[in-house]
Amino acid sequence: MNRREFLAKLVRYGLSAGALSALPVERLFAQEFYPRLAVPIIDAHAHLPGYSWDEEHTFDAIRHAKLCAISMAVMGDNNAPVGADSTYINAKESIDIVRQWEAQKLIKIVRRPSDIPLQPVLTGPIPVILSIEGGDAIGTDLERLKEFYDLGVRMITLVHGTTTQSGNNQIGNDMRQFSSSDSTDGGLTDFGFQVIHRMNRIGMVVDVAHASAQTLFDIASCTRAPIIDSHTSPFPSSVTWRPPSRLRLYNEMAAIVETGGVICTWPIGFDGDSFGRLTFADWVEEIKAFKSYFGIRFIGLGTDSGGGLPGYVEGWESISSVRRLLDAMRSGGFGPMEISAFMSLNFLRAFTRCHAIAQVSNYLNA
Ligand SMILES: [Zn+2]
Repeated sequence: MNRREFLAKLVRYGLSAGALSALPVERLFAQEFYPRLAVPIIDAHAHLPGYSWDEEHTFDAIRHAKLCAISMAVMGDNNAPVGADSTYINAKESIDIVRQWEAQKLIKIVRRPSDIPLQPVLTGPIPVILSIEGGDAIGTDLERLKEFYDLGVRMITLVHGTTTQSGNNQIGNDMRQFSSSDSTDGGLTDFGFQVIHRMNRIGMVVDVAHASAQTLFDIASCTRAPIIDSHTSPFPSSVTWRPPSRLRLYNEMAAIVETGGVICTWPIGFDGDSFGRLTFADWVEEIKAFKSYFGIRFIGLGTDSGGGLPGYVEGWESISSVRRLLDAMRSGGFGPMEISAFMSLNFLRAFTRCHAIAQVSNYLNA
């Protein structure tokens, strides 16, 4: 409901325009009605429905989630069929599937931040932030970044190691292959540095999900735009070392926060030795802990729907279960603006800044 619809509704409830002018409408709007307005939700990382590792990830589930936009990541890692340039060809074929969906008006590829509405899209094409998971598809050809951009790609997860590889690609290393203090973690390569520079210039979001600690630190120190970790979760802040694994330490997240970026958290569920994450309430506690350390502005949502997570928090069935997180945040004491910040606005801010920085640098270089 926008403000105009809200006012129309009050009139329908018998309040005349004259009476309205005597009411503290703005305060009423904020205090009484705002909490009931739809919270804008953007999923920073998910896969292609029907082409993923999880059959619960469907267009129907996406609709039920009532999102403003969803990222759809095509695979650009070295899991693609073997052969010269196979990762590049594989990514382009998957991008083509998404573009066909756009032609069929099932989705609408987001080309600039203003393409994302701030209300849930209940009917019509679903706004999709097209992304690539695995920078292997770039090969060693920087021009491919512009080619991907022109096809609609707005975010690339640069590192996505696979089970058969050493954990490296031509850009950097995978955190599942390196502990947080591994001295053999060489971090970002010289080519990777050029990739960051080019992505900043064309306005593509750099996603450091899966990146090893050193790769992340190197990216954070050279990027001119905010960076995103599109799907992960924090260790408790008391943990200062991690084995090769997928959760982030607070010092890793600090590097992302310093760029103005966002750490997007996912529905993974597990019962560890010293800590666990089993319920929506646990997820909310994690967000609270993050908030008290960094503030609410640097954390967001990235469900990895379709990515085949090994286990979920209790009650998570599909992306439509994001509504349950929303309720859990409300019960956990988060206010409407904080929930909106987590659910979408933080990501949108980072995406907008990446876009704006590219516009300015294009202007200055023209
Ligand atoms: Zn992933």
